[in-house]
Amino acid sequence: MCGIIGIIGEHEVSGDICNGLLSLQHRGQDAAGMTTFGGELHIIKDSGLVNTVFSKENLKKLEGNLGIGHVRYPTCGTVLKGDSQPFYTDRPTLISIAQNGNIVNYKELKEQMKNNKEIFDTRSDGELILKMLAGEVSKEKTYDADSFFNATKRIMEKLNGSYSIVGMTGKALFAFRDPYALRPLILGKKAGSYAIASETVALETTGYKVERDIQAGEMIFIDKSLQVKSRILKEAKPAHCMFEWVYFARPDSVLDKVGVYEARLNLGRELAKLWKDKGIQVDVVIPVPDTARPSAVAFAEELGLKYTEGFIKNRYIQRTFIMASQDKRDGAMKLKLNPLIKEVKGRRIALIDDSLVRGTTSRKIIQMLRDAGAKEVHFLLTCPPIRSPCFYGIDMSTKKELIAVDHSVEEIRKVINADSLTYQTMDGLKKAIGLPLCTACLDGKYPTNISEQTMACFEKQREDEKQFHWSAL
Ligand code: 5GP
Ligand code: SF4
Repeated sequence: MCGIIGIIGEHEVSGDICNGLLSLQHRGQDAAGMTTFGGELHIIKDSGLVNTVFSKENLKKLEGNLGIGHVRYPTCGTVLKGDSQPFYTDRPTLISIAQNGNIVNYKELKEQMKNNKEIFDTRSDGELILKMLAGEVSKEKTYDADSFFNATKRIMEKLNGSYSIVGMTGKALFAFRDPYALRPLILGKKAGSYAIASETVALETTGYKVERDIQAGEMIFIDKSLQVKSRILKEAKPAHCMFEWVYFARPDSVLDKVGVYEARLNLGRELAKLWKDKGIQVDVVIPVPDTARPSAVAFAEELGLKYTEGFIKNRYIQRTFIMASQDKRDGAMKLKLNPLIKEVKGRRIALIDDSLVRGTTSRKIIQMLRDAGAKEVHFLLTCPPIRSPCFYGIDMSTKKELIAVDHSVEEIRKVINADSLTYQTMDGLKKAIGLPLCTACLDGKYPTNISEQTMACFEKQREDEKQFHWSAL
């Protein structure tokens, strides 16, 4: 997963892009980058957090009234510096893009282009999309909105996967979203300027008023006179990634008109409905901070139970999920969460978390509560069991990492050493978010066509990349 933002206006944009990226930092902490255009292209990108990559001094070099930015999360465990975004080309004209998503048929498309003598410098989908787009744009006579619509329509016919893109030419800002609208993308406006970003929070914190979501399969093109042109390039089949609401997005964002905070409250209410039938008594409801907090609040409220904080989180430790390897995650866990013994000791606890992937983190968290004197720990998850890998940009890569693939709920309960284990139901999840969703990691029903062969190939590739990743470190 990554975060993207693009801005076009009457004023310098680098400050707003940097601030927007800070508000999208939760979407990727591996690298950050920006390209702007002020008579010529300016670029800064590097590994690290937004505030380490950009400084007051180097932002001044990013001149121009038009620019795009990116924060990167390594989808396939790669941490190659050159893979950070945005990418750019100057043939047939200046084009720079930043992507959020993952292309399933990356390998095939790249092979085809290599056979046509195209040279690739990175292993990133973003570079592939840029080269495909530039290739199609070069078949057009002009570089205006219509040409970009036509060129993008042709590449959409070939791309399989998730892609939310912001991009620019020397004269315009553009953006497009895959026909499934798997990843979010939102348009905002303030006097004399437009912004397009992954989440509403990045628009609001930089003073933009949210205008609307970019639609599934839609492209918009905004020129320097701030004329907005839009076209639907491919028939929409919305299947938004449920994980955006469950885990990824910031709770103060609203994606596809559904508030992330609201959805998390609903997830808690749905869990409460399940809990009522269980007849288990608890003294207190505790969230695993931070994602599950609204769900725990709503769960407690719905059942008239006491809510309390049972862990204090060190906010300076990065999200463990985003750390690419288990070893890194293990070490970070202990530093990250510390139990509040007074709130925990002697109590029967309903512990709410968002998701259970490998089971290792949850086992440790539950053990921490037991060590702090908890009498019972009942574990509840706002997300149903994760049983299939994600091919659209979330790094729960291979089947063998997913505990729910070959363990029953009772077996998982034993592994994590909980007194009881309650998963969200598919129905509950769908009701809580209320949109057409991708739920492929839960039910194996991928919205795009993914053959058995592609799956096997992908899994192997990801295993290899993990190896590569380790030897590269
Ligand atoms: P697990 O028990 O599966 O190791 O970790 C689940 C917990 O860690 C949850 O709190 C979740 O927020 C976080 N987490 C760690 N790794 C991942 C991951 O790959 N995917 C998801 N969804 N959550 C993860
Ligand atoms: Fe999101 Fe799961 Fe679909 Fe991936 S497979 S896009 S994580 S819902």
